Amino acid sequence: MPQSLNLLDLTPADALAALTRFFAERGEPAYRARQVLRRLWQTPAASFAEISELPAAMRTTLGERFALPRLELLARQRSTDGTQKFLFGLPDGQAIETVAIPDDDRVTLCISSQAGCALQCAFCATGRMGFVRNLATWEIAAQVREMRLIDDPVRVTNVVFMGMGEPLMNWKAVDAALTILNAPEALGIGARHITVSTVGVLPGIVALAKRPEQFRLALSIHAPSDALRRELMPINTKSPLADVIAAARSFDRRVTFEYVMLGGVNDTGAHALELARLAKGCRAFVNLIPLHEGGGAEFRATSPRDIARFARAIRGAGVEVAIRKSRGTDIAAACGQLRVERLGRRTPRRADEHGHVHVV
Ligand code: SAH
Repeated sequence: MPQSLNLLDLTPADALAALTRFFAERGEPAYRARQVLRRLWQTPAASFAEISELPAAMRTTLGERFALPRLELLARQRSTDGTQKFLFGLPDGQAIETVAIPDDDRVTLCISSQAGCALQCAFCATGRMGFVRNLATWEIAAQVREMRLIDDPVRVTNVVFMGMGEPLMNWKAVDAALTILNAPEALGIGARHITVSTVGVLPGIVALAKRPEQFRLALSIHAPSDALRRELMPINTKSPLADVIAAARSFDRRVTFEYVMLGGVNDTGAHALELARLAKGCRAFVNLIPLHEGGGAEFRATSPRDIARFARAIRGAGVEVAIRKSRGTDIAAACGQLRVERLGRRTPRRADEHGHVHVV
């Protein structure tokens, strides 16, 4: 008996091809394949048994040949500001976080691309738990799918790869997940509403730039000099600012700089001017992020007044800037915080210079 094929791990075109073959082999009409395809992502079915538009016997044979796995909802927390945080269990017992952030008529889903992370940025909770493994394509895309399946579903309009992990160190899975997120016959989220956030993994940026869709790119800068950035982000040794900015310049769409405001560390007027100069060099938009404290104990947030002052200095230098609203602080909604609370810390691992991972 053939091993069951996970339909959620395939792009819609590949899933349709597999289903078409399956129905043709059984002498069934071709439209059946499209019926099943619709129930993968568009109006997802919790299981084959629930695809009520198919005869019962057909649902059973589908289930013998194919798999339609779920993420296991381990925890769901709601913030007073409407932000919701989900902890999902994976088949091997790992857990990942997903955060839904409503804002006016939009709901942005912040999704994870890895369990843990190898990068060890000093202020980030995920970095402290260490790298566990890459997520499979379906595990990335299913975070959006589950929003349609859960009680009191969440209507996702935007997706950001700003949960756990470094998406461009898991490009193969992220590449296919982007197709599923965007394809009209799958999740149907517009490419301009999907943002990949990276510390600056150069081959990944090149690969993302090659895609014809207008996916957005956000770069985690966090410091305007290599000396300071190296302290905050060990990856800077491999991907220094000049390389990241050159990659941003070669990207054919406008990029966003993300800049976490760390009190007394990267928030002086001189830092603002230096950051503005870098942003000008690649026509980037600057997004200032208030620190969610608790990622790395030693950091404190810059005060709202000082963030506003920093933003004015950047704007004064002729660069567009926004201050990100801090959301879900009462439910520890920053990168990795819920998982660390629930599961405790793991032995940290580090990325080596080739971006692979080994135990320290
Ligand atoms: N690895 C990718 C994407 C995941 S992190 C990246 O680094 O871009 C998404 C964003 O959240 C990054 O800009 C990251 O620096 C930021 N972040 C991590 N911990 C944070 C915290 N405690 N408070 C505020 N932002 C944080």
